[in-house]
Amino acid sequence: MTDILHSPVFLPGYALEAVPRYTSYPPATQFNDGICGGAWAGWMSETPAEPVLSLYVHIPFCRSMCWYCGCNTTVPNRDSRIERYLEALLTEIATRPAPAGGKVHHVHFGGGSPDMLSPARFGAVMDALRARYDFAADAEIAVELDPRGLDSRLCEALAANGVTRASLGVQDLSEEVQTLIHRIQPREQVEAAVRALRSAGISRINMDVMYGLPAQTIGRVETTARAVAEMDADRVSVFGYAHVPWFKKHQRAIPEDRLPGAQARFDQMLAAARTLTEAGYSAIGFDHFARPEDPLAQAARDGSLRRNFQGYTDDPYDILIGFGASSISEAPQGYAQNIPDPARYAEAMVSDGSAIVRGTARSWREGRIGERIMQLLCTFDIPLDGDLFDPDALDGVIADGLARLENGHLKVTPAGLPYVRNIAARIDPGFQPAGQKHSRAV
Ligand code: SF4
Repeated sequence: MTDILHSPVFLPGYALEAVPRYTSYPPATQFNDGICGGAWAGWMSETPAEPVLSLYVHIPFCRSMCWYCGCNTTVPNRDSRIERYLEALLTEIATRPAPAGGKVHHVHFGGGSPDMLSPARFGAVMDALRARYDFAADAEIAVELDPRGLDSRLCEALAANGVTRASLGVQDLSEEVQTLIHRIQPREQVEAAVRALRSAGISRINMDVMYGLPAQTIGRVETTARAVAEMDADRVSVFGYAHVPWFKKHQRAIPEDRLPGAQARFDQMLAAARTLTEAGYSAIGFDHFARPEDPLAQAARDGSLRRNFQGYTDDPYDILIGFGASSISEAPQGYAQNIPDPARYAEAMVSDGSAIVRGTARSWREGRIGERIMQLLCTFDIPLDGDLFDPDALDGVIADGLARLENGHLKVTPAGLPYVRNIAARIDPGFQPAGQKHSRAV
């Protein structure tokens, strides 16, 4: 990714192309309603001995809606909604079929804003997880947090429950952008959140920054990227804003005439990458950055980097079990997803004992293609398996200088790094331009 700084070529035909994010394979857009709780139970009865487990817990609640939000979340008008959801979540944790002998190495709380749980409720979820699963002594427990919802009491409660890593949404620090996206959080507020986390003993901090937001400029992106480096984030994810108001209705509040154009988005992405690498971060894949001593950077160096629903990860799981509304579980046999709506999720847990409603089985061949796509997105270099994909499909990206063939390998060129998802789509035999189903590449 660092090389991208040396050959920044804006190619609108690729930058505007709608391609999967490839956080799973087959992509989530190909999930169908043929997978239910019974299928998951069957998969769990035939898993390898002593699998490495990863757990994901979705908390779909926020204090207020950010207009750019693409997550599955709601703003609850009554505390009883959270209480009912929590009861269903605890039931799912206690009863969800899981493989025997597995050990948990990672737990991730995502949302929404998991800080919407009171310390007592967060403790109840952790107690339920520990009662049901065997945790490795050095298990990482990571929580996504809204800096606006943090105080020292909550940070201490998170630390007392074993939380080791926090992920803070920063996005952009300029007041004008924050006003337009309905998320006011001055730099001082983020710094106070970091201080509260670190003094509670949660020292590993991730931050998210964005480009492509209304009124963003290269200067504002650089200022934000410099600030997260000065706050000494261990990892930084750089996301492009996906404007899909036909799908996420609240995004209609975003003034479209203030959104940067495609070339400006590309330049902002490069500005973030340049600022972070100049501040000493290692580039990870195409949109993550990490301090060289962080385990994610180590995984990139030793070849164990992976990609899943949280983006790039060093999590070595065999099986990922997702709890809560919309969460996705992954096993060697395929993917299973829960009902997205929190109220319907809670109803399904009461009436059916399972909230799994869709997913996809993964054939052996799809598993191999998925491995190759993940390898391409992590290392930019894969063996050219003629039995898996049609090399002719690569003619266009090779002619355009985005990739080259060398000694039986497909290698992404520096010019092709921003477009690696487009290249992945060429080796995905199931890819069909899906219009509004996927996000643009840059
Ligand atoms: S805090 Fe995060 S999840 Fe909640 S509305 Fe804002 S962006 Fe979405």
